[in-house]
Amino acid sequence: MASQNILLLPGDGIGPEVTTAAQRVINWFGKHGTTKFEIESDLVGGAAYDAHGVAVTDAAVKRAFEADAILFGAVGGPKWDDVPYEHRPEAGLLRLRKDLDLFANLRPAICYPALANASSLKKEVVEGLDILILRELTGGTYFGEPKEIVTLENGDKRAVDTQVYTTPEIARIARVAFELARTRSNKVTSMEKHNVMRSGVLWKEVVINVYETEGYGDVQLEHMLADAGGMQLVRNPKQFDVIVTDNLFGDLLSDVASMLTGSLGMLPSASLGSPDEKTGKRYSLYEPVHGSAPDITGKGIANPIAMIASFGMCLRYSFGMISEADMLDKAISAALASGARTSDIADGGNAMGTTEMADAIIAELESLA
Ligand code: NAD
Repeated sequence: MASQNILLLPGDGIGPEVTTAAQRVINWFGKHGTTKFEIESDLVGGAAYDAHGVAVTDAAVKRAFEADAILFGAVGGPKWDDVPYEHRPEAGLLRLRKDLDLFANLRPAICYPALANASSLKKEVVEGLDILILRELTGGTYFGEPKEIVTLENGDKRAVDTQVYTTPEIARIARVAFELARTRSNKVTSMEKHNVMRSGVLWKEVVINVYETEGYGDVQLEHMLADAGGMQLVRNPKQFDVIVTDNLFGDLLSDVASMLTGSLGMLPSASLGSPDEKTGKRYSLYEPVHGSAPDITGKGIANPIAMIASFGMCLRYSFGMISEADMLDKAISAALASGARTSDIADGGNAMGTTEMADAIIAELESLA
């Protein structure tokens, strides 16, 4: 029997609540399929800081390297607002992303038919939406040097962030975009600002070069200025399939896209590294887009769908278990269609808790099996 080793990092706030729900779904697949899932857990974020004085221990990072995939809940909360900057809860997540070189961040934005009314956009604009934003995660403005605030001779201050990309950084994310498009509707839209940014000129050039020289001619490629892309995302989001963009624009555009789907509690994500040349193994971390939601922590009402759908992405992208991933997506969709709602997506009426939503999804898995 095949076996996959998952490192579970529940984190803080609602993180442990939604990972417990996801763990029940993992156990269901473990019982009903041909793959065994070995789950190890460790602390991250504020929970790790309280226990060890750091946001993630070296031992946990070592386990992350050894795991076949990482499932991450959420970190942070007011309790840790005053801890030293280098030990803030988010530092644990940033270290994992950096150490494992998780450069490709995949954020699907899917609008389930049953939730088309929950979006702030008109139903006909979002109903049936299924797009994927691919954000470069380890380069660009958030990491470029110099990055500083300096005091000038006259006492004024000057702040600098540096947008920087190299050819290999752009080429590897472009390849991921083309490969992903082939598993979907075969279209890539690359977004940058080549009209005003040198990094945008290089971005576009390298994307075209990879496209033309590496045999991706079967994929439809288009280019769009990132600001126009933002506008098109709310005007006519269904025109897109895969959007590939840099770290900063990706941060903004994926948050815009998240609102198309109705609730933060619905959005999964994956962060992937490059496949190892010898073993083919790629490091990967799956997490909901939402944070630790301190306002609802402990109430048992968090929506577990983003976390459960993150496990679905793990089945698809790390374990190659495509039919199981499709089945889980169908079960989520069917649970929603049957009226299952947590309070964040309930339109008045009765809302269920985290456990009941997981029950509803598992019941649909049972009937699909
Ligand atoms: P948040 O995503 O935690 O919450 C925003 C709002 O959405 C809240 O009203 C919350 O109740 C609601 N919400 C979020 N997830 C939900 C779910 N699954 N079900 C139902 N409702 C849900 O963002 P925030 O309030 O800005 O941040 C809270 C903490 O989380 C902060 O400490 C922040 O730094 C941290 N954070 C962590 C991550 C991460 O771990 N990757 C991401 C974002 C924010």
